[in-house]
Amino acid sequence: SQITKTTTLLVIGGGPGGYVAAIRAGQLGVPTILVEGAQLGGTCLNVGCIPSKALIHAAEEFDKTRHYAGKSALGISVSTPAIDIAQTVAWKDGIVGKLTGGVGALLKKNGVEVVQGWASLLDGKTVEVATAEGGSLRIQCDHLLLAAGSEPTPLVSMPFGGMVVSSTEALSPTSIPKQLVVVGGGYIGLELGTVYRKLGSDVAVVEAQDRILPTYDAELTKPVAASLAKLGVELHLGRKVLGLNGAGNAVRVQDASGAETLLPADRVLIAVGRRPRTQGWGLETLQLDRKGNALRIDDQCRTSMRDVWAIGDIAGEPMLAHRAMAQGEMVAELVAGKRRHFQPASIPAVCFTDPEVVVAGLSPSEAESAGLDCLAASFPFAANGRAMTLESTDGFVRVVARRDNHLIVGWQAVGRGVSELSTAFGQSLEMGATLEDVAGTIHAHPTLGEAVQEAALKALGHALHI
Ligand code: FAD
Repeated sequence: SQITKTTTLLVIGGGPGGYVAAIRAGQLGVPTILVEGAQLGGTCLNVGCIPSKALIHAAEEFDKTRHYAGKSALGISVSTPAIDIAQTVAWKDGIVGKLTGGVGALLKKNGVEVVQGWASLLDGKTVEVATAEGGSLRIQCDHLLLAAGSEPTPLVSMPFGGMVVSSTEALSPTSIPKQLVVVGGGYIGLELGTVYRKLGSDVAVVEAQDRILPTYDAELTKPVAASLAKLGVELHLGRKVLGLNGAGNAVRVQDASGAETLLPADRVLIAVGRRPRTQGWGLETLQLDRKGNALRIDDQCRTSMRDVWAIGDIAGEPMLAHRAMAQGEMVAELVAGKRRHFQPASIPAVCFTDPEVVVAGLSPSEAESAGLDCLAASFPFAANGRAMTLESTDGFVRVVARRDNHLIVGWQAVGRGVSELSTAFGQSLEMGATLEDVAGTIHAHPTLGEAVQEAALKALGHALHI
């Protein structure tokens, strides 16, 4: 049986982009239907940001107890630590369940109709959803919002299946592998590689480029590489992965000279990137303009077809949840007739490695490429009292500002807990702060944030604690 519904805004995908768009549209009184084939919350809540951060925390806590199993400098010792991985995964699933349940409640509260099922596009105004009862539901809309997200990119030489897994399976392990090979030294591979190392696996990371986190500037990633080495994670840089060996117990890798080596493995995590979900659901029929694999959008998230919008991962890099959410909120307001644009001064990015890395705005080399004459100054955590009390003095905060008027154009930091500094970085960039503004703000003592103030002071030529 076929039922037809009509609505003003039809959102495909209930990830951070789609669900935020739907909530905001509901708040503004726009009749909205959201279609989700899997779980509300999308990649981020179910198999991305949240579960990865939960496992990072669990692994860190376990690693601490092992650290204390030998007598530590703090005088703390514990007897043999143990981990029940099933319980850890259940705890993580509990957090995911709470958050996805919360998204459902918020959608309901704001009058959004949620349709469970996979949508296929018939044209730019009509979709068909296969319902659980075996029928189909046809939905017609004035505005179509494509928020279908992304999926792990497979490797042709080592397809997913069996011991070869993506981040999705790696976030719900039923056992800890003895020897894990991670293919890809980007943030997802390194975050999860660190988790498994701390949970007890031998971990080898293979990266085609000659350094880890190749999209970040080298100085920032050095403390991460040093910490991985200290943890005992093997890095195989500048190597190509050829596939599994015949016995299926090792990964064949090739160096620049063509020489082949075998890395023993009982699990392989492929983390070579994510691709926009643009195939298999009728999107091709719209023939929207593309930018690479992603949908091309303008700075109001319009695609090349009238009243068809795209947000989040399906619209390409940077594939980040907070970017998807900001775009979703804007599209809802545009559909409701408000005037909006998407021109953020920065979209901060965080790697939750150990130590963490944060970037917001321009790095010194990006500022230079943009033709700006800039000052840059770094303040090390080794000179920060709070960092010493936390036993984590590796890393630094760096500020980049224009030489002429001291307008801050970028921040970078590496160190334990620096993800929380992303708020200060984003605010100062968005508000157009100068070095003097940040240097003149009284920062609470003792905090890691004092390094932010000191970096600004240093750029002005008078750091106080170095
Ligand atoms: P998604 O979250 O992918 O949601 C899309 C939804 O659309 C899915 O639920 C899907 O089921 C649904 N869908 C697709 N096609 C259809 C269809 N035809 N019909 C119905 N429903 C459909 N980002 C951060 O900012 N910080 C982090 O710390 C972070 N960590 C990450 C860790 C991992 C391991 C991974 C994989 C990703 C991480 N990300 C992180 C990235 C983040 O998850 C994504 O940028 C974000 O989820 C994108 O949101 P989205 O709404 O565009 O799409």
